[in-house]
This record gives sequence, C-alpha cells and structure tokens, in this order.
Amino acid sequence: MPELPDVETFRRYFGATAMKKKITDVQVLREEILEGVGAERYRRRARNRTPVSSHRHGKHLFIGLDDGSWLTFHFGMTGFFKYYQDDPGESEHPRVVFSLDNGYRLAYDCSRLLGRVGVCDAPDDFIAEKDLGPDALSPDLDAESFVDLMVGRRGMIKSALMNQSVLAGVGNVYSDEILLQCRMHPKEKVTDLSENDLHRVHGAMREVLTTAVDRQADPERMPGDFILPAREEGASCPVCGGGLQKIAVSGRNGLYCPRCQKLKN
Ligand SMILES: [Zn+2]
Repeated sequence: MPELPDVETFRRYFGATAMKKKITDVQVLREEILEGVGAERYRRRARNRTPVSSHRHGKHLFIGLDDGSWLTFHFGMTGFFKYYQDDPGESEHPRVVFSLDNGYRLAYDCSRLLGRVGVCDAPDDFIAEKDLGPDALSPDLDAESFVDLMVGRRGMIKSALMNQSVLAGVGNVYSDEILLQCRMHPKEKVTDLSENDLHRVHGAMREVLTTAVDRQADPERMPGDFILPAREEGASCPVCGGGLQKIAVSGRNGLYCPRCQKLKN
C-alpha cells in the first residue's frame, strides 16, 4: 500500500513527466474512483488546464493547476501513475487517463479501486476536512511537537503511528520499519513511553522515511537493516537474524522481531 515515501515518489514522477504539459483531454474509465465529483465535472475542471505545482500531505497528492484549483490523488492499496506515448506498459488498470499536449498520456492506475481522485480549491481545506494530522516529514514536526502529539494518547504505539488523524503518511509497512529501527515493541502503550522513548521513535521515523524517499520507495534499494527487501512471515530479522513474527495491530498484520523489540514491562 502506498505510504508517504511511495506517494512522494509519485509526486516526483508527476513532476518529471506531466508537469507543465497542458491537459488536452481527460478520460474517466471508472467513475467510482472519483470522490465528491462526477466524471463530466471532473473532466471540465481538468481539461485545457496546465499542472504547475505539486504538494504532498501524508498519503495524499495535490497537483496545482494554472487556474488555482487542485487535482487530488490518493493511491489506495494499488495506485500508481504511468506516463507513456503509445504503450501503457505495466498500466493494466487505468482509471483516469490525462492526454497531454505533447502527445503523451498520464494514467492513474488502480487495480483494486481503493484509491480516490478528485478536485479541491485548497489543499489546506481538504486536509482539514479529512482530519489529517501533520505530515510525518513536515519540517515543523520536530521531536517536541511529536511528543505533544503523542502525550496522553491511549492505545499502542503502532496504532498511533498509523492513525492518519494523529500523523499523516505512515502505514503498516513503515510503522514496522520505524519500530524495528528504534527497537520498540509494536504493542507498547503510548502512555508507558517516556519522553526519551518518544524522541527515539521520532528520530527513527524521520530516518526511515527520509531514507525510503531517497531510494524512491524501492524495496530492493533499501538498506540491509530494513525489513522491506524481504517482507514476509518467517523472514529473518535484518538486525539480529532471528525470525520475524506476525502481529495484528488495528486490524493490520504487522511484522516484528521478538528478540529486538521487547515490551518494557
Ligand atoms: Zn531482531
């Protein structure tokens, strides 16, 4: 599932391909992918407009158009962009296709239809409406602000990291990486964590996300002490070589190392 590093990679991909190319036509192939707008209106809003800027917040991508409005993209479990001239390549489930004035197209592909595409007038309003917390890589989210977000929060640390209203961008996969890197058990209660523990989580979060963004969210390019290159039950812990185990938190199946990540009490 696309998390912050993946969506940042999509943002850069858009920037390197369709940015500044006038949209000459829009095909909506599956209308249920649209959120809060019908196909005809979506087409009218995007057509003959030129993408001029981009902004990412958590797992949401915003593309600014030359009339001041914004296209919004969420990638669900399986979403991605594909830019092409004639052969759409790996894009086998295009849901919205933008034709561009250089003869190329940009497909928003989403096989499982769990992503969402829409329009908005201002990203800040959209973010407020979705009740999203601060972006996990926002420069404003320093260790102190992170502690403020977590203090007094009930529940487990992995749930808090994945809760998009607390903090936007981290999901099942990257919360596992973050917690392994700071050697913390996923079910540790937030209320049992000291300020120092929370600083460790914050540090690991920034390190893991920055590293993953630098490596274009490609599992094969991740450092040797990340789980991502071999993310499966029974795989070896990349830190100690022990067996990783499945752990269910907030309805998601995470992975952790019982040797490296012990409960405090
Ligand atoms: Zn281990």
